[in-house]
Amino acid sequence: MVGSSEPLLEVEEALRIVLAQAVPLVPVWVSLSAARGHILAAAVTAAQPLPPFPASVKDGYAVVAADGPGDYPVIGAVTAGRVAGFTVKPGTVAYITTGAPLPAGADAVVMVEETEALPGEQSVRVRARVVSGADVRPIGYDVAAGQEVLAAGTRLGAAEIGLLATLGISTVLVYPQPRVALLSTGDELVAAGARLGPGQIYDSNRPALAAAVEAMGGVVVDLGMVGDTRAALVEAVERGVEEADLLLTSGGVSLGELDLLKPLLGELGVVHFGRLRMKPGKPCTFATVERAGRRRLVFALPGNPASSLVTFYLLGVPALRRLAGWVHPQLVRVQVCLEEALRLDPERPEYHRVVVRWETSRGGLVAASTGNQASSRLLSLRSANALLELPRGEGLLAAGSSVSALLIGDLVSFPLSEG
Ligand code: AMP
Ligand code: MG
Repeated sequence: MVGSSEPLLEVEEALRIVLAQAVPLVPVWVSLSAARGHILAAAVTAAQPLPPFPASVKDGYAVVAADGPGDYPVIGAVTAGRVAGFTVKPGTVAYITTGAPLPAGADAVVMVEETEALPGEQSVRVRARVVSGADVRPIGYDVAAGQEVLAAGTRLGAAEIGLLATLGISTVLVYPQPRVALLSTGDELVAAGARLGPGQIYDSNRPALAAAVEAMGGVVVDLGMVGDTRAALVEAVERGVEEADLLLTSGGVSLGELDLLKPLLGELGVVHFGRLRMKPGKPCTFATVERAGRRRLVFALPGNPASSLVTFYLLGVPALRRLAGWVHPQLVRVQVCLEEALRLDPERPEYHRVVVRWETSRGGLVAASTGNQASSRLLSLRSANALLELPRGEGLLAAGSSVSALLIGDLVSFPLSEG
C-alpha cells in the first residue's frame, strides 16, 4: 500500500485512524504538586462536607436572630481556627471573625458595620435585624458530603487542584504524561553548535518538535540524529518504540531512494497511511509497532521544517492527548475573518499558518498570514497560533472571508488602542 501509487488520504480520515489506535496510558498516582495538566482517571467524591462546621461569613457578632436590634453584653470571642467554649444564650452576643465556627446557641451573624461598640467594650449595640442563618455558611454549603466534585476525564488546573486540596486529598489517580521519542534522520544534518560542512544543514526539527511536545504535555526522549542507512534507522526506531509511547521521526519519507522509513516501519509493524491530501505534509506516515504487548505509535513526519511541525500539530497532538487521557483530544476549532485575500490550492486543502487576534471593532477573530507558505520555510510558523483550514479550490479567497482555523497556540493580546 505504501509508495507513490498510494492514494491521498483526507486528513479527517487520517485523524480518525490515529485516534482509533491511540489508547490512554495506564493511570498512575501522583502528588497534588505534580498533578497540573494531567487528566483525572477516576471521579473524586467529597468524603466530608465543606465547611465542616457552620462558619461565619463576616467579621461581626454571633447572635440569636430572634433577639433583634438592641444593646447586648458580649460574652466572649471566637476567631477562625478556634472553637468557642461557651453558649450564646438569648439576650447575649459573641464577637466572631470570618471563617470561625458559629458558637452553640447563636443562629446568625450581624456584621460589624451594623453594630456600635458601647463604652466599656463589654457590650455592643446591634442596629440590624437579621433572619436566622444570616451570614452563616451552613455545613456543606460549598461542597456537600458525598458530592462528585471532579468527574473522570477532567483536566487538572488551578481550581481543580484547589478542590482536591480542599477535600484533604494529597495524591490523585491520573493518566501519565506520554513519553515521546524524537529522531531526526538525514545524512545532511548537524546539531546546532557544531560546524557546518559542505552540503550540510542544522537539524531544526528535533529542537522544534521537542519544544512542541513539551508544550503539549509530553516528556521528550531524545534519540538524536541518524544518517540515511537502514541499519542505523532500524536501531534508532527499535530504541524509540522500546523507550517511548510515541515516536516522532522526521525526514526520509519522501520518494527518494534514501527515504527508507516507510518500508522499514512496514517490516517492524503496521503502516496505516503514508500519503495525505494536505499542504504541507503530504508524505506524513503513521504506523503502529507492538512491543512487549503494548502498541507504540509512530509518526514518520516529513523532513521539511514547516511540514513536520504542522503534521505534528494536526495528527501528533491529538494522539499525544489521547494517550494522556484527554476525552476531546482534537485541536480547538474557531471561525476567523481573513485579513487579506489568500490563494487556494487546486489539489490539496492547505493549513495556512496565521496569527489570530481578537478585534473589538470587528467583534471577532481576525487572521493575518505569516507570508510565504513554503514547507521549508519555518518563518511561516513564527508566532503563528493557528492553522487555517483552507479548502482546495481555484483562485483567491477574498479578504474578509470567514474561515475555520485550528488553534496551535495561545491567543495573544494587542495594544488596547488597536483592539
Ligand atoms: P526528506 O523528508 O528527508 O526528504 O527531507 C525534506 C527536506 O527537509 C530536505 O530539504 C531536508 O534537508 C530537510 N530536513 C530533513 N530533516 C530536517 C531536519 N531535522 N531539520 C531541518 N531540515 C530537515
Ligand atoms: Mg532526508
